[in-house]
Amino acid sequence: MNNLMRIDGLSTHFFTEDGEVKAVDDVSFRVREGETVCIVGESGCGKSVTAMSIMGLVESPGGKVTSGSIEFQGEDLLQLDKHTLRSMRGHELAMIFQEPMSSLNPVIKIGEQIMEPLRVHLKLNKKEARAKAIELISQVGISRPEQIADSYPHELSGGMLQRIMIAIAISCGPKLLIADEPTTALDVTIQAQILDMLRQFKADSGMSILLITHDLGVVAEMADYVIVMYSGKIVEEGEVVELFSNPKHPYTRGLLKSKPVINQRQEELYSIPGQVPNPLELAPSCYFHDRCEHCMPVCRSKQPVLQDVGNGQKVSCWLYEEALIHA
Ligand code: SF4
Ligand code: MG
Repeated sequence: MNNLMRIDGLSTHFFTEDGEVKAVDDVSFRVREGETVCIVGESGCGKSVTAMSIMGLVESPGGKVTSGSIEFQGEDLLQLDKHTLRSMRGHELAMIFQEPMSSLNPVIKIGEQIMEPLRVHLKLNKKEARAKAIELISQVGISRPEQIADSYPHELSGGMLQRIMIAIAISCGPKLLIADEPTTALDVTIQAQILDMLRQFKADSGMSILLITHDLGVVAEMADYVIVMYSGKIVEEGEVVELFSNPKHPYTRGLLKSKPVINQRQEELYSIPGQVPNPLELAPSCYFHDRCEHCMPVCRSKQPVLQDVGNGQKVSCWLYEEALIHA
């Protein structure tokens, strides 16, 4: 499989009154054609900021991509002018968020919101765009598409709105769909339907998906390749089967242990003790050291780097570096 996107040394920092937050810190990975890559981690680990950096949407005052490159189909997105990037967004690159309401305009009818990218990017006329919008609404599994096209967002359920967001996202045939916690706000049945649908669209169109989630159940179902992030850094990555059957980083192991199992009562769930470190107080060290049962002196004073450990897996942990050094 060819690379569709290659991210190299991406860092995105936020400059706050209290100091600099390295939300994404020297992150590199690739997404191949037709592949689903999942970025997993707890909230605040930098997974959403990674997505926003790719989309050129790190707009909050004080937020900035400080280094790296994001090569997409051979072009560095970070070097593109705003106009070119905007014309790629919604066309080659599309994104869906956890809260569909935040991306839909409450006073514009659903049909018109689906028509807009079709008119802008595919240059369809009004009639063609309307027909295509209706087709898309039924494609995402909503019945009575004409009636839905003439509805306003508030008239639809959360699950339907997320389907509409997917309709908009896939409308122009993107090469890459970035989905940030797309099913987190939905109940389990709807969640499964939405994931099924994304898988189906991927199979039909050959698009790639970059899926951001904290839910390992979603990862197991969707991912070809998994990236585990912690405090702005990748701590482990690998093919989904390897990563689930042979997790190496103590954090990945903790995440897998805390994955809910059907029929297990909630209070019996394992959760990783401790908390993520304060992003303003990160010292050179393994950022997971306070929570790690294998912590060694070196872990407190030096940062491990991501190393290839075979089987296509990479891990950033002194346990493996030591093994390599002494091999
Ligand atoms: Fe634990 Fe050390 Fe590995 Fe960090 S580097 S995960 S503290 S063993
Ligand atoms: Mg997030």
